Amino acid sequence: MQDTPQCLIRRTPWPESASRPLGTPIQPSVVYASPDPDTLDAQYDGTQPGYTYAREGHPNADVLARKIDALEGVQQGTGGGLITGSGMAAVTATLMGVLKAGDHVLGGDQLYGRSLRLMNQDLARFGIATALADPTDVSAFEAAIRPETNMILIEVVSNPTLRVADLGAIAAMAKARGILLAVDNTFTTPRGIRPFEHGADIVIHSVTKILAGHSDATLGYVAARDAGIRRAIYDFAVTTGMTPSPFDCWLAERGLYSFELRYDRAEANAEALAEHLASLPGVKRVLYPTRADHPDHNRAVALLDGRGGHMVSFEIEGGRAAANALTRAAPQIAFAPTLGDIGTTLSHPASSSHRGMSAEARAALGISEGFFRVSVGVEDIGMLKAEFTTAIAAARG
Ligand SMILES: *Cc1c(COP(=O)(O)O)cnc(C)c1O
Repeated sequence: MQDTPQCLIRRTPWPESASRPLGTPIQPSVVYASPDPDTLDAQYDGTQPGYTYAREGHPNADVLARKIDALEGVQQGTGGGLITGSGMAAVTATLMGVLKAGDHVLGGDQLYGRSLRLMNQDLARFGIATALADPTDVSAFEAAIRPETNMILIEVVSNPTLRVADLGAIAAMAKARGILLAVDNTFTTPRGIRPFEHGADIVIHSVTKILAGHSDATLGYVAARDAGIRRAIYDFAVTTGMTPSPFDCWLAERGLYSFELRYDRAEANAEALAEHLASLPGVKRVLYPTRADHPDHNRAVALLDGRGGHMVSFEIEGGRAAANALTRAAPQIAFAPTLGDIGTTLSHPASSSHRGMSAEARAALGISEGFFRVSVGVEDIGMLKAEFTTAIAAARG
């Protein structure tokens, strides 16, 4: 038997190259070797840069975080944003890393489904009280504030009814009362709005959606205006193991190179598709924030700089049978309850995100069996219009 060559066991040096790679390298290493204990001490103290253990941070997460920081206009000196293993990890780290038993958090009443669950079911077990209110109505929102309220969590545009929060008024109220304002900016993206410029203290993303953009990486992001708050969120995320995979970070960073191109194209498609849907027989209503008939039209135009985003919702006549006929007649449009993919996806809230609600509660939100939400992709708009024309005609029977 031959001796095992030592290079199989000891690490092989990386080959030298006078030129550098254009692509971002992937660094999957879990652990980092320091030259001596003094250096390791200095790294833990933060006086020397570098990594120690991947759960605490790694280069691919930081490369990605710095790009999203730039998109969100994160100020230098705050430590920058943090990448987590999912969007929900970012939401959870924000709430549980900052709040303590006895605190009260007020949320928008149409938050992302799992955020609602965290608010309604999980936080109470830790002694954190919660309430939900309509963020499009600042007086209703203010009425739900308690003396012990110390955080507000809202999304700018709600899912799936695309209502626009009164961000300016809520931020002013939060500031006057010393309440932290956290904004989940997943739906709107920093191309639509940069919440730090509107008074947010914390900005959250599900990077899984249009930032990464290809439905192949699950990640989150959170940044805070205050370095102490940032530290509390970071420590909670690291302690509870919300670590992102380096490969997922690499995929998302790669996706970001084309983010603005994809967003602008998807948005232009969404605007045109909304117009088209509104012209089709059998479509009862179309929701798109910048359309003249949208309930928050004026606020959408002012707050979002006239940008309507890449999401469109619509309602057709008929019940579940018509909805089934619609999705079956458009097999090329993925019927999948997610958003922000490169291609158009269609979701049906009554059978997915809002299935846990009673029909009456859904009706109060305007979500019937004929209600669909479209995450518009970057396809040729002529093709998309034709596919929706066919699908809606099929739904009419
Ligand atoms: C998807 C989503 C989340 C959760 O993100 P994951 O990456 O799926 O965990 C949170 N907020 C909003 C608005 C979302 O759309």
